[in-house]
Amino acid sequence: MPRSTGAKMPSKRSTRRAIIIGGSMSGLFTAAFLRRIGWQADVYERSPVELVGRGAGITTHPELLEALEKSGAGTRDLGIEVDKRITLDSDGRVIAEKHLPQILTSWDRLQRLMRATIAEASYHLGHTFERVEQDGSGVLVHFAGGKRERADLLVGGDGIRSSVREQVAPAVQPVYSGYYIWRGAPNEADLAEATRASIFPYFTFFLPERQQVIGYPIAGLNNDLRVGHRRYNFIWYRVANAQELRRMCVDAHGQQHAHSVPPPLIREDLIAQMRAEAQAIMPPQFLDCLANLRPFFTPIYDFSTPQLVFARVVLVGDAASLARPHMGFGMAKAGGDAQALAAALGTHDDIDAGLAAYNRARQPIGERIMLHGRRLGTHLGVNLQGEDDRAMWKLLQDHRAMMDWIAVPNFLAAYR
Ligand SMILES: Cc1cc2nc3c(=O)[nH]c(=O)nc-3n(C[C@H](O)[C@H](O)[C@H](O)COP(=O)(O)OP(=O)(O)OC[C@H]3O[C@@H](n4cnc5c(N)ncnc54)[C@H](O)[C@@H]3O)c2cc1C
Repeated sequence: MPRSTGAKMPSKRSTRRAIIIGGSMSGLFTAAFLRRIGWQADVYERSPVELVGRGAGITTHPELLEALEKSGAGTRDLGIEVDKRITLDSDGRVIAEKHLPQILTSWDRLQRLMRATIAEASYHLGHTFERVEQDGSGVLVHFAGGKRERADLLVGGDGIRSSVREQVAPAVQPVYSGYYIWRGAPNEADLAEATRASIFPYFTFFLPERQQVIGYPIAGLNNDLRVGHRRYNFIWYRVANAQELRRMCVDAHGQQHAHSVPPPLIREDLIAQMRAEAQAIMPPQFLDCLANLRPFFTPIYDFSTPQLVFARVVLVGDAASLARPHMGFGMAKAGGDAQALAAALGTHDDIDAGLAAYNRARQPIGERIMLHGRRLGTHLGVNLQGEDDRAMWKLLQDHRAMMDWIAVPNFLAAYR
């Protein structure tokens, strides 16, 4: 039986309730922060099983550390601290370095830290959001299978292809950047001694024309931080137009996928071609990484939503706006959105006034982050628009500039 079907829409402060769609980072952050201001927050995730093993490496930022602390999750055993960035030439020699302490972590570690903040009874796996009805003072949320739930607020934390956003802002669609990444994370123990000594402790760049290879250490399976048990996050940015991407999205059984291919179904001929092309250009350390991983690819998209609030429906995290991953800031933005939403609702007795304050605070930031990602993406030389893009492209052709701009902390300060 639906828990609250037929009940009056809740309105009193003591009964305020949010339904959050998406049990990944922004959903968990939102639940944690709303609970801290006294709301009841229930998370609904379509996956029938706990989310594990997604993606790999995550660069951290001060904003993310702050959100983890303030949400109650903490930063215990967060990851691996590196103190230096290096750039290699194609022979594997270091041609530049920069001192920059930074903690590198993994999606799994962050998910586990945040997941521990939420009571089992409030985290509902196997629930797929279908649609929402609004009556001005609340929402009635419909899930696949017929379940319905009422609340004061619906939060869409359901990622890049958000079905909540699809309902309230269907015109907003992710835009393909014109490039994608091959990625994977080889085990430290499988890498050659020379690779472990020369790149494993560092955030490492290799920057051939219109390509980027980036690597950094992350925890091993089950957040194993012991020397010899860690992994090295490997990312290779490559240019491909929409047609080429479409061809890549035909899987091993000949089936066309719309956006990407599940890793086990990526065609062997694509992987073989990629390995051959790597062989021709890459330094030995990154070839060693590639030889020891099963690669998968992720096309790079971005977008921003002109408004984040639609009466009692609100968007957070990747559902609200998405930047290209050059800043490594998606988790920090998810935490920042959730923090700002709770701050706005906590300081306004009127929910709608609080939501308007959230929109004013976070919509411009999401858009700014997206635009900054496009600036950094000019390095790859795709669709350069106007003088500013060309100037940025030119600046980033210098590998020292790349070390100064890619995934660095406090980049938003330049816009304040
Ligand atoms: C290549 C790459 C590298 C990145 N590197 C970094 C980095 O270094 N640092 C960093 O901070 N960020 C990084 N990011 C970004 C980061 O991974 C995302 O910003 C972050 O995961 C967003 O979290 P989210 O919860 O908003 O969305 P998601 O993690 O996409 O979660 C959305 C959830 O909603 C669920 N869902 C979807 N539809 C429904 C539905 N209808 N009903 C119920 N549930 C639903 C999904 O199953 C999913 O669990 C990177 C991203 C990419 C692609």
